[in-house]
Amino acid sequence: MLFVVKTQQKIVLFPLSLMICIMTLSFVVLESSLESFLEKRMQVELQAFASMSLDSLSFLENKRDFSSVDDLADNLGALSGARITFIDTKGVVWGDSDLSLEEVKGIENHAKRPEVILAMKEGFGSSKRYSTSVKQEMLYVAVFKNSKARDTKYLSRASFSLGIVAEEMRRWQWMFLVIGFLSLIAVSFFGWLAGRMISRAVKREKNHLEQRVTDRTREISLIQTMGGMLNACASIDEVGAIITNIMPDLFPHTHGAVAILKASRNRLEILASWGRPWPIEQGFHPKECWALKKGHQHFSHSESLKIPCPHLLLDLSVQSLCVPLLAQTETIGTFHLLSDAVLTEENTRLVTPLVKQLGLALANIQLRDHLREQAIRDPLTGMYNRRYMMESFEQFLSRAKRKESTVAVMMVDFDHFKRFNDTFGHEAGDFVLVNISREIKRNMRAEDIVCRYGGEEFFLVCPDISLDNAPMVANKLCESIRRLDLSLKKKSLGSLSISIGISVFPIHADSVEGLMKLADEALYRAKSEGRDRTMLAELEPTLP
Ligand code: GH3
Ligand code: MG
Ligand code: MG
Repeated sequence: MLFVVKTQQKIVLFPLSLMICIMTLSFVVLESSLESFLEKRMQVELQAFASMSLDSLSFLENKRDFSSVDDLADNLGALSGARITFIDTKGVVWGDSDLSLEEVKGIENHAKRPEVILAMKEGFGSSKRYSTSVKQEMLYVAVFKNSKARDTKYLSRASFSLGIVAEEMRRWQWMFLVIGFLSLIAVSFFGWLAGRMISRAVKREKNHLEQRVTDRTREISLIQTMGGMLNACASIDEVGAIITNIMPDLFPHTHGAVAILKASRNRLEILASWGRPWPIEQGFHPKECWALKKGHQHFSHSESLKIPCPHLLLDLSVQSLCVPLLAQTETIGTFHLLSDAVLTEENTRLVTPLVKQLGLALANIQLRDHLREQAIRDPLTGMYNRRYMMESFEQFLSRAKRKESTVAVMMVDFDHFKRFNDTFGHEAGDFVLVNISREIKRNMRAEDIVCRYGGEEFFLVCPDISLDNAPMVANKLCESIRRLDLSLKKKSLGSLSISIGISVFPIHADSVEGLMKLADEALYRAKSEGRDRTMLAELEPTLP
């Protein structure tokens, strides 16, 4: 504020002091040159009057006495406003417009007057001095025309009081002072007005800048918060929840969505949306998005074109921005922003850093999910592996203990698989394993854990299956395998069968190890009794 006041003072004071200096200087210059200019002008005028008077004297050729010459001087003086004096070449004054005839006759000889001497010599003479007869400081100009054609007995002298010059000077000075004073007032006023306007503009700009700094700080803090939250996300769904929460703060008055590219890479599905309910289809093909086709962001409304993405199905009043979500160079999804207002690079500047963070976070989670899937799944059949089964089995048992419900455990083994491999080859063995896995998964419920225990053995954990139902479920599975009619490379793989050993919590045992051991023993019995069958674990004999 102090800075603004000082600037405002400078805006007024600088031109004001400059103007005062210029005016003082011009006043001094004017003062000195104006006096000589006015005197010069007066001298020219007096010369013209004197010359004109001398010409008029020639009209008195025959009647030239003191009285008529003095009358002529009086008339010419009244006409011109100057003092007109006629003097002969001997210095005798014949007439004077300011003196009476008696005074003229009594006046001293003018032969020694400097202007008279000069005029006699050069035809023109001028001098400045105090006049004892009119008692004033006077400027005298005498003219003498030395020509044979003329009467050369007289010279004429015109004079003005120098008081006229002084008066003219004072008038000029006053005019200068008034103009100067008005100019100073005008400069001060306009300077003050300009200063006020500048200070207002500065204040406005300062407020604007402060607001921008506040906005930027808030945006940076929101992006940082979002970055921290995204890094802490354990699943894609958590990322979706964060997007829905933070985006309305980052992009007020807009709505939008983030879509994820499916593993098949031929469809994008909306992970999260914000603002108004997402009006567009929940999924779309990558070729329907200009951003994915171009490989970088696409504004629906540019300066020259209006091309909204087909997947948005919007009318042209809504503007859209689509940006690919990248991890390294691989596309993993898209970011969409929609607005009824104009979308520009400036008002969407946050999109670029945000999309980078989002892309990396989603890629990290996808990679983590992928590694986790690799760690818990068997690569050949896609079934859970033994490690995952053991972790989940423990949880199932504790839940069943709490709920006092049952859990059926089934150990499944492919019959004569070694022989099958020997007959049809290892490739056919793998093919059968994949198909048997698929068949087992098809027969089981979503809540069951189905795992490849090792080789051609599978382990099934089925919550809420009672002792009565377990053999029925197992028999149904045996039946569906029996019905499989597989062929590879147009060669039939013959009939297939499995054997299943069953134990049920809490009837046969109440621990993971106990249940597995009993199911394994039941399987062994199923094998020894001819295979392609199911066998229930034996109950521990109760003590009498
Ligand atoms: P049984 O009816 O008594 O279970 O006889 P079996 O031949 O199935 O049992 P055994 O344990 O003697 O042999 C299991 C065979 O399974 C041995 C191995 O070659 C085969 N095997 C294990 N894992 C795989 C696999 O991933 N692919 C293929 N093709 N064969 C496998
Ligand atoms: Mg085996
Ligand atoms: Mg076997």
